[in-house]
Amino acid sequence: MQGTMMRFPLTLAHLLERARRLYARSEIVSRLPDQALHRYTYREFHERTLALASALQRIGLSRGDRVATLMWNHHAHLEAYFAVPCAGGVLHTLNLRLHPSDIAYIANHARDRFLIVDDVLLPLYEQFRDQVSFERVIVTPLSGGEPAAAGYDDYENLVAARNAPILRDPDENDAAGLCYTSGTTGRPKGVVYSHRALVLHSLASALPDALAVSNGDTVCPVVPMFHVNAWGLPFTAVMLGAKLVFPGPHLDAESLIDLFARERVTLAAGVPTIWAGVLQALEKKRGRRALVQGMRLVAGGAAAPEPMIRAFDKFGLRVVHGWGMTETTPVGTVNFIRRELARLDPEELYPVRAKQGVPLPFFEVRAVTDAGEAPWDGATPGELQVRGPWVAASYHDLAAERDKWTPDGWLRTGDVATIDSHGYVKITDRIKDLIKSGGEWISSLDLENALAGHPAVQEAAVIAIPHVTWGERPLAVVVRKPGHAVSTEELRRYLEPKFAKFWLPDAFAFVDEIPRTSTGKMMKVKLREQFRDWRWD
Ligand code: ADP
Repeated sequence: MQGTMMRFPLTLAHLLERARRLYARSEIVSRLPDQALHRYTYREFHERTLALASALQRIGLSRGDRVATLMWNHHAHLEAYFAVPCAGGVLHTLNLRLHPSDIAYIANHARDRFLIVDDVLLPLYEQFRDQVSFERVIVTPLSGGEPAAAGYDDYENLVAARNAPILRDPDENDAAGLCYTSGTTGRPKGVVYSHRALVLHSLASALPDALAVSNGDTVCPVVPMFHVNAWGLPFTAVMLGAKLVFPGPHLDAESLIDLFARERVTLAAGVPTIWAGVLQALEKKRGRRALVQGMRLVAGGAAAPEPMIRAFDKFGLRVVHGWGMTETTPVGTVNFIRRELARLDPEELYPVRAKQGVPLPFFEVRAVTDAGEAPWDGATPGELQVRGPWVAASYHDLAAERDKWTPDGWLRTGDVATIDSHGYVKITDRIKDLIKSGGEWISSLDLENALAGHPAVQEAAVIAIPHVTWGERPLAVVVRKPGHAVSTEELRRYLEPKFAKFWLPDAFAFVDEIPRTSTGKMMKVKLREQFRDWRWD
């Protein structure tokens, strides 16, 4: 049929122009390395972003070229978030917590042409510069020190040249961003985001039944901007003209609480490890200042334990649980209370709020067992498979991983989940972390979350250990809170009323810390390695 709607590309260029037109006065605040706060408005953000985009083109950026960043969360990183894709390039955020040789591997695999690096991160860059060959290295003088040394370009010089921008209008299917998985379960793999995917993801994740971002919000992405486009929040906030607050390199609980209070943050996002730290600080009254009541703490990347959600409620802070992965831009499901559950008692709602949430519009989920798609009964676990316009269709330059997609076009997430009749997805494990005892699955995540509720437990990981009779049995590895003692028997008694008997860990091992990945997830591969010689008595 002819004569329908305009063809209007869904691109980040529109969001940038919208920021200028509508939100010139909105504010962007960044914590600098010396703790000082840098402030400016969307007007300056827009001007500098255009200047950076045209500067990149002047130094030779062509369509599809990768520009890497090695940066903390701050205004200049936000400028790169928009300038690179709006100039036709692809923003490749490098994870500065990885080992230098892994960073080099990723930059080479992506064939990054340029690098933008914070001056405070130059020592890190120096550790792998021999293994990479960026054509230009642009340094942000974040710490207010000397202008960039010879051989480097100075970021401020580049954005100071305010001559007429020579931006090209990207196509909505052009690549805009690139991020590598953090490699919790294997070698990092690159995921390429299109403009269209980023725009649709921003629209859907901003909905009231998702992250509920609005113009009146003050948004603080604590999650590093080198993780999956910092969960879309930089794009979503700019789309809506929200105030943005960036923590810079200061991610300790006290600095965060201070920043949230000072800038009246209403929505912050980070992994549960960050929130666990903030909670401890609040409990010890280490955060000196009051936070905005009703402030939302978006938690994702790993499971947010129910006890944590309860504990934050006592402070008037609401944990919003979501699920996603690098391959899904990342937000796929977000927890909200559906109308048919709204009348339940808050106590009854906690187990619901601890689930990973309901799929966003245009994001489809299914749990698949050996016998086909699992019923949505909240009980039958299966592999979580997803599809949608912001789900990767392949990895960057990596044909070997084709079996991550099913023949009928769904992404296998590698997570095991149940889906209930209301559509809430609950992640019970990663396939690689499953524990199979006597032919039955035991959810390590459920056990870990329950253990996290014990007052003496700081954190716990439950892993499978081979067993002659049962195939595998669970071992709980526990970190006790400083100054707290707790015995194996006590922990066992604590779990007993909550689980079937065969789920209870056969043993508890106490350790000082649980190995973590660069994104703050428990590294179970390493833990299993650590307990390789464990023998059941
Ligand atoms: P990696 O796979 O290297 O850890 P990602 O950052 O892409 O890198 O991680 C995605 C994975 O993180 C998901 O597949 C899932 O296992 C886990 N995850 C993300 N959010 C949650 C959540 N809310 N609860 C439990 N697991 C989660």
